[in-house]
Amino acid sequence: MRTIGLLGGMSWESSAEYYRLVNAGVRDRLGPLRSASLLLHSVDFGPIAAAQREGRWSDAGDILAGAARSLEAGGAHCIVLCTNTMHKVAAQIEAAVAIPFLHIADPVGHAAGRAQWKTVGLLGTAFTMEEGFLKDRLADRYGLSVLTPPAHEREVVHQVIYDELCAGVVSDASRRRYQAIIERLAARGAEAVILGCTEITLLIKPSDSSIPILDTTALHADAAVLFALD
Ligand code: GLU
Repeated sequence: MRTIGLLGGMSWESSAEYYRLVNAGVRDRLGPLRSASLLLHSVDFGPIAAAQREGRWSDAGDILAGAARSLEAGGAHCIVLCTNTMHKVAAQIEAAVAIPFLHIADPVGHAAGRAQWKTVGLLGTAFTMEEGFLKDRLADRYGLSVLTPPAHEREVVHQVIYDELCAGVVSDASRRRYQAIIERLAARGAEAVILGCTEITLLIKPSDSSIPILDTTALHADAAVLFALD
């Protein structure tokens, strides 16, 4: 089995979910006492979030590149960056190591392809919804047309992530707001919705959504398991 390098802490609420899912994935495939060989480098999210707010992306990228190098030096065979947003600096991290970087968009693109969905909604941080680092990869490599909510709804989605989910707060009121936003994406033609922030899985389960979900946390963790067992 190859060793998975989880680069997490953004936030640790979702990294804990990655840890659980990767281990459960190995157990499901290999048997009840089997678990993943993995390293977790969990950064302090405070300086990363500050760099995001201040637009200092390459400073945040330097921190994550250093963390990726330490995972590689510790024996990891791949890097799994446990956040969609920080894939904005994926190239900087990838360039710092020789081991494969498992991009979070790829298992999402493959899952959409298997289901033959062409138009999908995307929820995530403002960075993820408004910039191209995820959407362009999904469009260019997987032919997906990606819909995002209008500005006032994007603000709600973004604030719930940073003010609640990353702080360990999961509220019914926010779930209802997300459900309404998903319904409006569906009315515009979304066949499924990408939970494009690794904490949204804590708030929205498949039964909470009027359309199928593409859960980036679960899909990325599963891709890590497949890599480890390949
Ligand atoms: N975990 C989140 C994501 O998937 C947001 C936290 C962050 O800014 O990294 O985008």
